[in-house]
Amino acid sequence: MGIPTAELRSAWASVESRYGSYQLVLPGEPGFICQPDSCDAYCCRAFNVTLDEQEVRNLGETSGLQPAHFLESENGEPIVLPLATPFVLGRREGSCVFLSMELTCEQYEARPNPCRSYPYQVIFVEIESGRALQQGPEVGCKAVEALVRGLVDKRVMPLLLRHDQCPGFTGPPSTEDEWVRLLQETYGRSIGGAGEVVSSPP
Ligand code: SF4
Repeated sequence: MGIPTAELRSAWASVESRYGSYQLVLPGEPGFICQPDSCDAYCCRAFNVTLDEQEVRNLGETSGLQPAHFLESENGEPIVLPLATPFVLGRREGSCVFLSMELTCEQYEARPNPCRSYPYQVIFVEIESGRALQQGPEVGCKAVEALVRGLVDKRVMPLLLRHDQCPGFTGPPSTEDEWVRLLQETYGRSIGGAGEVVSSPP
């Protein structure tokens, strides 16, 4: 059974105006290949990244730094936000604290989940109201599972989006299987203690 692209487009049409710098991703569109030679690491400058305790531990171990040295901190203590991923990666001169002078990530292997998912994210549109709403893992997982089987969950429609400021969409067109994997991986990271983008450029 194929992916219901007409239903995806319809759900996207109801929320598109609120996602000015994002585009809906459907099967058959160019894949992402990072273009470090022609990009100024926009993603590591433009976004604040939140992370969970495990991600903080990972970065602490690989960098050898105390968390207060790479997290947004106050009086020497990391700031804790009321989010599932409560810590915020620190910034230095307008970019992530781990962005090197050569515009590479100094902690690439331990980079948090939002960095692994960028330039993609998954949102959910409530069918009844036509609004984008956060969903708990139970509803979200069922909707993603239904979609990859070519079905439509009556309550919510997951949408895979890409950030259109990224110049990396230069790969070959995705097959349906590749699109399904991308959707599942992006969504999986977002519920596995993954961080979330808490601010984005217009
Ligand atoms: S951790 Fe690495 S990939 Fe993530 S924003 Fe910082 S420099 Fe970029």
